[in-house]
Amino acid sequence: MKKTTGTDRSITRKWRPATQAVRGGTWRSEHGETSEALFLTSGYTFHSAGEVAARFAGEAEGMTYSRLQNPTVAMLEERIALLEGAEACRAQASGMAAMTTALLCQLSAGDHVVAARAAFGSCRWLVDNLLPKFGIETTTIDSSVNAEWDAAIRPNTKVFFFETPANPTLDIVDLEYVCGLARAHGITTVVDNAFATPALQRPMEFGADVIAYSATKLMDGQGRVLAGAVCGSEHFINEVLLPFQRNTGPNLAPFNAWVVHKGLETLALRAHKQSENALEIGKMIEARVPLMLHPGLPSHPHHDLAMKQMDAAGPIFSFVVDGGREQAHTILDALELIDISNNIGDARSLLCHPASTTHAGLTPEAREEMGVTEGMLRINVGLEDVADLMEDMDRALAAAGL
Ligand SMILES: *Cc1c(COP(=O)(O)O)cnc(C)c1O
Repeated sequence: MKKTTGTDRSITRKWRPATQAVRGGTWRSEHGETSEALFLTSGYTFHSAGEVAARFAGEAEGMTYSRLQNPTVAMLEERIALLEGAEACRAQASGMAAMTTALLCQLSAGDHVVAARAAFGSCRWLVDNLLPKFGIETTTIDSSVNAEWDAAIRPNTKVFFFETPANPTLDIVDLEYVCGLARAHGITTVVDNAFATPALQRPMEFGADVIAYSATKLMDGQGRVLAGAVCGSEHFINEVLLPFQRNTGPNLAPFNAWVVHKGLETLALRAHKQSENALEIGKMIEARVPLMLHPGLPSHPHHDLAMKQMDAAGPIFSFVVDGGREQAHTILDALELIDISNNIGDARSLLCHPASTTHAGLTPEAREEMGVTEGMLRINVGLEDVADLMEDMDRALAAAGL
């Protein structure tokens, strides 16, 4: 195995993101393959007993077991770290493995976490159910109100955990303010950047400490594999996260790492084109529904902040109809092109009713509190011709009397 210039940080840190996305992290075998090889191996062999002993002692470079390192996974980790502007990255089996690992590796009984109340259903479950089970206190707040972050801090607050934009309400968190506040109090920020990805938003530029991903979404971008990643400082990843990960094993499989690695080559192109399509469809739907939640449209309460933090608003937005679940389901059932699906970030356009799918596991009170109403629909806008998407949405809205 030969590392290419793509693994030399003195070179790659000077590359622009488009170059990092295609070349970052590449290693090549003796065959000199252009497309990165897929190393489906759980273990490694060694030339001598002394060599393996030196590797296990950390005195020699090289891999020992795929729960600790794998060449294909390592290539993906380096590429994500470069794009995110992070010192280090570790890939995880799924987005939820990434969130769980990022939180549990650094928290202990008696600690306190402040989290955004608007969040992906399973992220809320971690905060509401898993952490308290281990004696970790949690408080959920309206993450788009800066003063609520200040007010929630306690002497034992260890972590701020939030998404921006949030799923599925598209709440925007003021990254610079909240990360600055955390720094001032010695609190670690864990930002779930799944909606934007580094192609549209790099929270570390605003002072975020740890970025956790569902790479299942825009990073893969074609709806093929589950994957996740956690980015942070070398200290955080190597000293705090790695001991947890190497002993509990939420690792990403090499095949899935390879798929996401290839997905990253087109991430920026897809993220920008899908954002453009989403803005066009968003404008059309906005004229026909009572409530639109799209950070790229001036009607969004934090439009200016979103545009300050993000290069584009992304492919995902939500809207609310007055007729509740019945009208929302009528729209879904009238679609001809756009699929009914709860996935996001895919190159295909997908429409979902969060209250009866992604957020069905929460209590009606929790849904109400975070704004996931019965009339809410969330769309992921894909790479199809936007004219076809507009025609389909027009037909579906009309079928529901809109
Ligand atoms: C999908 C998603 C997750 C979970 O990721 P998986 O890869 O499905 O485990 C976490 N956070 C957000 C914001 C998501 O959209």
